[in-house]
Amino acid sequence: MADSSPAPQANAQTLLSQAGTLHSLKAIGVSSIADTLCGRHHSKDFSYARGDYLRGRVTVIAILFLVLLPFWAVLDFFLLPDDTRSYTLVGRIFMMAGLVLAVFLARGSAGRFNRARVSAGLLFFLPAAFYVLVLFALTRHPGTHDLVGYSFIPYMLVVMLSLFPFTLIESGVVGAVLLLAQGASQYLTGNWFTAAGLQESWLLFALLTIALTSNYFHLGLLLRLYREATHDPLTGLLNRGALAHSLDQALQARGDKQMALLMMDLDHFKRINDQYGHPVGDRVLAEFARLLRQVAGKNDFAARYGGEEFVVVLTQATRAQALETAERIRAQAEITPVTDHHGRTLNFTVSIGVAMFRPGETLEIVARRADERLYEAKKLSRNCVVGA
Ligand code: GH3
Ligand code: MG
Ligand code: MG
Repeated sequence: MADSSPAPQANAQTLLSQAGTLHSLKAIGVSSIADTLCGRHHSKDFSYARGDYLRGRVTVIAILFLVLLPFWAVLDFFLLPDDTRSYTLVGRIFMMAGLVLAVFLARGSAGRFNRARVSAGLLFFLPAAFYVLVLFALTRHPGTHDLVGYSFIPYMLVVMLSLFPFTLIESGVVGAVLLLAQGASQYLTGNWFTAAGLQESWLLFALLTIALTSNYFHLGLLLRLYREATHDPLTGLLNRGALAHSLDQALQARGDKQMALLMMDLDHFKRINDQYGHPVGDRVLAEFARLLRQVAGKNDFAARYGGEEFVVVLTQATRAQALETAERIRAQAEITPVTDHHGRTLNFTVSIGVAMFRPGETLEIVARRADERLYEAKKLSRNCVVGA
């Protein structure tokens, strides 16, 4: 997910006003364009969730189409000229087969985002391809494609874009293809650059703009709700539930990689709260979280497990590497100063228990073992790492 970093030369005043503007934009539900433009800034976990949303919608809409298509085929029979019926019937049969394939792909796309996206793409590609086929089949009968309502297919598809949590680029590509298809239709029917043709294009373009706006709010809302549901607001780290969920996926894709869990608890934290007050305690938690984010790799997970307990899961680390990382966190915490409201600095320390994931073990089992070692570290001297 995108973070916007200000230009280095910006002074404190503009930074403050930018922060204020960003805050008020967020408060009214306006998300950043980068978040909704493409999926590059989305976490792996959010992409999985978006895949789930796509999956549900593809299934419902494809089934709806499958139910309606036979009725449409009957309409063709009454309304179309005899020599075009064979084209449209074959087209409809292909479309039904393609929709069954889309449902099949969507059902098997759990945890496979690209598969979900292909199934959604099929839902747009099939009617668009059918539209092009009909265009060519009906060119010899001017006016008939209006009669049976085929000309509304591009409009229907553009409006359908707003039902999906697509990124602006995804919807933009589909929209551009539909505009081209409509242009081809106008060319074939002689409407190209006539007043009626321009009016049609204008309508399609206006609907596309509405669909893109809807995508922007739809995806922005999903991202915001997803972030709030999976991240701890004070530290910005994953919460315990999100850690369990992400870890499930990492364990499934683990292969023969060694994974380690670091269970951490800040030492004498009650004293910090008592001596400096809760807001300073909060500052210590946020500072420690920042340290964890720096240490954790791109594929690792850092989470706030409880009040002042944290977990880092290293998804590719031997026991020696895990102990080394834990020691680095401990040593870095010790020399990280936090300033209170009066400008006084304080230091804090952390105790760490380290456990390796054995084959088939779940988060709870490994976390319990790491917690036992953390308890030993507390008994031993605090401000130390216990790994065996
Ligand atoms: P130990 O070294 O044995 O861990 O001692 P401790 O004082 O840290 O003991 P413990 O781990 O039981 O302390 C937890 C304290 O953390 C109690 C609670 O008031 C404080 N705490 C939990 N959540 C928060 C929070 O969000 N903000 C602040 N400021 N304090 C919190
Ligand atoms: Mg504790
Ligand atoms: Mg503690």
